[in-house]
Amino acid sequence: MTNQSPSAPPVAVTYADIASASERLAPVANRTPVLTSRAFNTITGAEVFFKAENFQRVGAFKFRGAYNAMSRLSPDEKTRGVLTFSSGNHAQATALAGKLLGVSTTIIMPKDAPRLKLNATRAYGADVILYDRSEESREALANELAQERNLTIIPPFDHPHVIAGQGTVAKELLEKTGPLDMLIVCVGGGGLISGCAITARELAPHCKIIGVEPDAGNDGVQSFRAGKLIRIDTPNTIADGASTNSLGEHTFAIIHSLVTDMVSVPDAALVRAMRFFFERMKIVVEPTGSLAAAALMEEKIQARNKRIGVIISGGNVDAERFASLMQT
Ligand SMILES: *Cc1c(COP(=O)(O)O)cnc(C)c1O
Repeated sequence: MTNQSPSAPPVAVTYADIASASERLAPVANRTPVLTSRAFNTITGAEVFFKAENFQRVGAFKFRGAYNAMSRLSPDEKTRGVLTFSSGNHAQATALAGKLLGVSTTIIMPKDAPRLKLNATRAYGADVILYDRSEESREALANELAQERNLTIIPPFDHPHVIAGQGTVAKELLEKTGPLDMLIVCVGGGGLISGCAITARELAPHCKIIGVEPDAGNDGVQSFRAGKLIRIDTPNTIADGASTNSLGEHTFAIIHSLVTDMVSVPDAALVRAMRFFFERMKIVVEPTGSLAAAALMEEKIQARNKRIGVIISGGNVDAERFASLMQT
């Protein structure tokens, strides 16, 4: 093995993989809009570009990684089918990608996953299996079922082809805006920020990459600071897309070497950001999708006079839940 420079990611996801994912996705994924808001710029003192993945197919960026990974399966793997586990958006993404690629999908979802996400996943034709988050490990359950039914697991974040697909979000953003001073990305298992960090290193090498988690689910912040993977109990947060127990092995390695800093915000800040998006920008953003914007609104990040990319990761929130959050 050759010596790697200290900043090289130790896993095999390169910008070439992301460029290749981008070609595969072009005919099927939405090239989502980049939005700006004078009001947001005034509040933060920055020039902010929002990449609006709430307008992606299935309502979140997850379609990119799931489709890229599933399109690369061998004919035999495609015939046997795919299994995954997800609290929602990766489930929908896998189900839709399966439908488009003619691959059958089995999806393990928590019993308490948002109705909207559960129903949409079923509507795409996936076989949904519910489990109790507080009692069973979804990874263990997934491994068991995959063996039993001879299915290929496409995990929600810790997979090179998934990471490469998610990296196309930053590619489209940077192609539109040119180099940015900073890119702020929400973090669950870290697939999105990993792919985006690899893209940014190629297209905007001076761009700082900041990850944002909910306070209650700050395992990534802890891992980043400790320099090793830290697991936490299932966090209690309204950001269901970021209620992961830990980063993955691939994603931690990439985050550790390419991310500038990680911060966390309280759930109340997510509600304030959702309200801003609704009232001022007229868009519906789910709690997890508001993490990056909330970090700016809460002044967790030095933003003044900088050009900043903010990823809005998704918009899937039940109407009733949205309404009740707005009343808190
Ligand atoms: C999955 C998801 C995230 C977190 O992405 P990771 O790749 O797991 O870090 C953030 N926002 C939304 C809307 C998601 O669906």
